[in-house]
Amino acid sequence: MNIKHVTVVGAGTMGNGIAHVFAQYGFNVTLNDIKQEFLDKGLATISANLERQVKKGVLTEEAKKTTLANIRLSTDLASAASTADIVVEAATENQKIKSDIFKTLDSSCNPDTILASNTSSISITEIAATTHRPDKVIGMHFMNPVPVMKLIEVIRGLATSNETYATVKALSEKLEKVPVEVNDYPGFVSNRVLLPMLNEAMYCVMEGVSTAESIDTVMKLGMNHPMGPLTLADFIGLDVCLSIMNVLHEGLGDSKYRPCPLLKKMVAAGHLGRKTGRGFYDYTKPH
Ligand code: NAD
Repeated sequence: MNIKHVTVVGAGTMGNGIAHVFAQYGFNVTLNDIKQEFLDKGLATISANLERQVKKGVLTEEAKKTTLANIRLSTDLASAASTADIVVEAATENQKIKSDIFKTLDSSCNPDTILASNTSSISITEIAATTHRPDKVIGMHFMNPVPVMKLIEVIRGLATSNETYATVKALSEKLEKVPVEVNDYPGFVSNRVLLPMLNEAMYCVMEGVSTAESIDTVMKLGMNHPMGPLTLADFIGLDVCLSIMNVLHEGLGDSKYRPCPLLKKMVAAGHLGRKTGRGFYDYTKPH
């Protein structure tokens, strides 16, 4: 299938990055969100990130202009999706929001249009079941920040066809990303492997095995991780970490995925990491 027009649903952290990358590689992009102000903010972020690429010398001023010219904004999902060859949904992580979006997409898109979701934790098989085209529904799990990170986990739902998978794999390669095929299980591969490690680091703090700083140092200097697990958890957001641990625990039913009680307590206290100024580290003080 020849993909030319891509509609991206949601102009937040991930959606604007996904729109940026598709537009940079020459696709016609329509970016959709529920309010014009969210679209304007998304486009301003894309523009600032393109400017950074120009300053770094990885993009020309001309390529920046062409990229921006490839992006249209729309608050009308049905019309934004009607001409799309593929839709990549990157709206708020909420099952009801996503199933409403996919129902609208299913009724407004051409029968051949592929519907992809960037969800981190919702089952692709369940999203697909809300449509009449489960064979054309797939996960395209980009990593943050999208213009920088090379990986796309391509998630096959139970009914995803080989043709849909092959199209999305080829499309990911056109973006100079590396697609990795993953079957639809809770947390896919990325979060299933990463989050239990972060959770275990939190147990180490709770049990007094060592301090947050020391645990991060062990993992950075001993395991060559670019960032310690507790710094990373603060960066991701402790509420997001808790929600993913709950998905793993409920979805896989194994006690090894139980969320650390300290994590639950910190989320209850509103200490969510960088975004609230306090998590395993204090971000209110200058470092
Ligand atoms: P975000 O909160 O930054 O952005 C979500 C956007 O979706 C908002 O602009 C919101 O207005 C919009 N939205 C909500 N309902 C909508 C609707 N009905 N139609 C159109 N737009 C709607 O969230 P985010 O971090 O960009 O996450 C988006 C998706 O990407 C989620 O599924 C999340 O799990 C996934 N994801 C996030 C990350 C990350 O690091 N943030 C990484 C990988 C995947």
